Amino acid sequence: MRTPAAPTWVEVDLEAIRNNVRELIRIADRPLMAVVKANGYGHGAVAVARAALEAGASWLGVARSSEGVELRQAGVRAPILILGATTPAEAEAAISSELSLALYDRGLGEAYARRAAALNRRVSVHIKVDSGMGRLGVLPEEAGSFGKWAMQTPELSVEGVFTHFARADEREVAPTLAQIARFREALEALRDSGVRPRWTHAANSAAALRIPEARFDLCRTGIAIYGLSPSRHFPLPQSLRPALAWKAGLASSKDLPPDWGVSYGGEYVTRTVERIGVIPVGYADGWRRSGPNQVLLGGRKLDVIGRVCMDYCMVRLPAGGAIGEEVVLVGSQEGERISAEEVALRWGTINYEVVTGIAARVPRVYVGADPSTSQGGFPP
Ligand SMILES: *Cc1c(COP(=O)(O)O)cnc(C)c1O
Repeated sequence: MRTPAAPTWVEVDLEAIRNNVRELIRIADRPLMAVVKANGYGHGAVAVARAALEAGASWLGVARSSEGVELRQAGVRAPILILGATTPAEAEAAISSELSLALYDRGLGEAYARRAAALNRRVSVHIKVDSGMGRLGVLPEEAGSFGKWAMQTPELSVEGVFTHFARADEREVAPTLAQIARFREALEALRDSGVRPRWTHAANSAAALRIPEARFDLCRTGIAIYGLSPSRHFPLPQSLRPALAWKAGLASSKDLPPDWGVSYGGEYVTRTVERIGVIPVGYADGWRRSGPNQVLLGGRKLDVIGRVCMDYCMVRLPAGGAIGEEVVLVGSQEGERISAEEVALRWGTINYEVVTGIAARVPRVYVGADPSTSQGGFPP
């Protein structure tokens, strides 16, 4: 890897992604849809998608049409499902890019069919069933008539049926089993209407890892392919490992005199001569202002002091601390570690929000690119 030129950067280990994808396929014993929405959970959608496909993923999942189009423009040819809502205005680009669409509303479905007809094509759809998430999807009791309508609409090619779990990360499995039961009812009604899709799928990472009944034909794993845990109630299998580290180089290191305020509001004031380090990471990078925050420097955890600024935050340095020295915000350093889960706990949120919140201006640097493909490695 090249030494990054940027003040702060994210390192993504693509070999960790490949390892995690292989392990998840082995554990679930099913084909895998690698979910790479939200820029691959902040890891970089295109690089993660390629690594996941190299490791045997069959499908890619995105939330938005634009995310699927981006993958196609990068030359990714694998099947891609838009898990979420596609507007009628987006449908033309989605259909031209051969993306599969989630179908959960007749009005929208008719709009997709009109766009497909205008392009002289059919549109591949996966019928989404709301089995208890209360978000997108047809209710189980409507599934039969919805399926009949879809089968009578020639521009729609139903290649899948799916649902999404609301509570698979909880200690209790019963709510997820109840969703599976409702999904099965919907599947039966759909079958009676002539819907016989190639792909039936339901499991997110949490369900894929520990609820065998949820696996159906395909597991849609997001967070676990990044080596992050879907739940604080059960650990990830030991064989999965985090792919992301967030680093920076110290931007300034200097002694401040006693009684000197640090950062906006002067909430931290030096008591004696104190050595203060400036880290070029702020809330505009996705490093929360509300904190509390810690970083690794010289293999030790240091508290961030004073307010986090838009582009900077400060720490009190032990002796030393040279400009350019490596600071780790998420990841390991000399045997110490700050996990995305630990940051989430400090912020009162979940690891998903920590990694997806890392701003676009933080360059992603890839390590462990597959040397057999010319497409690996994207230095900033
Ligand atoms: C995001 C998402 C997933 C992946 O969830 P993880 O918990 O990250 O594994 C699966 N299915 C749908 C519909 C999603 O929106």
